[in-house]
Amino acid sequence: MQDKLVIAEALEGAVRIRAVRTTQLVEEARKSHNMMPTSCAALGRVLSVTAIMASDMKEDDAKTVVTINGHGPAGTIVAQADGAGNVRGFIGDPGLYLVNEKTGKLDVGAAVGTNGTMSVSKDLGLKEPFVGVVDLVSGEIGDDFTYYFAASEQTPSAVAVGVLVNIPGCDVRAAGGLVIQMMPNASEEAIEYVENVTKTMKPVSNYIDEGKTPEEIITLLFPDAKLLDEREIRWHCDCSKEHFASALSLVQEADLEEMIRDDHGAEITCQYCGKTYSFTEEELKEILEKHRNVEDRKRLDP
Ligand SMILES: [Zn+2]
Repeated sequence: MQDKLVIAEALEGAVRIRAVRTTQLVEEARKSHNMMPTSCAALGRVLSVTAIMASDMKEDDAKTVVTINGHGPAGTIVAQADGAGNVRGFIGDPGLYLVNEKTGKLDVGAAVGTNGTMSVSKDLGLKEPFVGVVDLVSGEIGDDFTYYFAASEQTPSAVAVGVLVNIPGCDVRAAGGLVIQMMPNASEEAIEYVENVTKTMKPVSNYIDEGKTPEEIITLLFPDAKLLDEREIRWHCDCSKEHFASALSLVQEADLEEMIRDDHGAEITCQYCGKTYSFTEEELKEILEKHRNVEDRKRLDP
């Protein structure tokens, strides 16, 4: 089943609901970064909500970037999604397998930590991206996004997100997310209805695991929901050898010379997808040559 995002409204326009199924893309992330279960659940949750947030983007190449660092063992988590549904990201330590002793569940909060911030950068087509930063609440990701929407975007929201991992295989069994947002005109009844939904609903990854689609989850929770839009989302990194060649051309000349002289080449790994690109000594010499030409031109024509 292809991962997708569904946008709907319900309760006569008092709420906006966005739901995603992200099982495939989180599994691709797991394979790209060789992640253990708790790291996989942590990054998978962030990827899922970031995919939902990017549905606000008007342009296909406009990006939403979420960066979380709670000073826990997971280190920094970064997720990026664009208006076309491409999602990618990485986690500082992909090798975590922490289980909460009381609940027996993967302990995402302990992996992420709570002593830090979540920052969201949205490219809304203005000169500078919109950036919102909030303190982390629990490191469990869902609560942290709920707080972010309230504090930074002034939108009362409920965020549910989850990743189920098969043990011992470590592959992703089900992943998804749900963001319910109250519109400014919401009545008391609508607010009460949503509060009741969030209290009684199952974890969203359980619905996905039962085979429910995002629209089925929405209509189960909000029988009067009107579907507004649906899109495919996928794990995709747009890195390329050309991209890293132009990054190398920005490196100091002395460093390029050292790579040529001592290493006879260079290997660069993409942080987002783990793919490695090799540059031969010849290719580095070409980049150095171009670099020198640009520097010469700058000297002649400052
Ligand atoms: Zn990449």
